[in-house]
Amino acid sequence: MALRTIVRFPNAFLRQKTHEVKIVDKAIRSLVDDMMETMCDVSGAGLAAIQVGALERIFIIDASAAGGEHTDPPRVFINPRFELLSPETDVAEEGCLSFPGIYVPVKRSLSARLRYLDLDGTEQLVEAENFFARALQHEFDHLENRLLFDHAGAIKKQMIKRKLDRMTDEEAMEILRHTGE
Ligand SMILES: [Zn+2]
Repeated sequence: MALRTIVRFPNAFLRQKTHEVKIVDKAIRSLVDDMMETMCDVSGAGLAAIQVGALERIFIIDASAAGGEHTDPPRVFINPRFELLSPETDVAEEGCLSFPGIYVPVKRSLSARLRYLDLDGTEQLVEAENFFARALQHEFDHLENRLLFDHAGAIKKQMIKRKLDRMTDEEAMEILRHTGE
């Protein structure tokens, strides 16, 4: 396991095209291990592979954010595909490890059904509601190159750019270690 650097906005890597995982092999499990270590280091609620410099369509979500016990390992979603997103929505502020200290209100479906592969390469189906459903939609957005920035209004966009353009790695880690997201 190794800690990876979290790619921060406005790094263009966050807009790179992602690709499906063909085989869930040792290299993929090793990437997921690194993602878990990196997310836990900053107490994040979720992390997509693209945020640690890998273009595989994978994201993880903290167990408690996914409705489980705090001590459970993060949930892993490989090649995720939404089968259902409820027409019922709500708006809540979201943070993102690629946007340290930034919060943007985002409208999301209240419930979702997602098909994905687990770490054994077995197809799984998950039904999620509320915060878990929101986290799934946020992380899935990363795989489609949709970022928190895209949900912000014009003035907020300027503020985000100003703040993140001049943020150093040290400042970013300081903020993430104190807030988590
Ligand atoms: Zn994010």
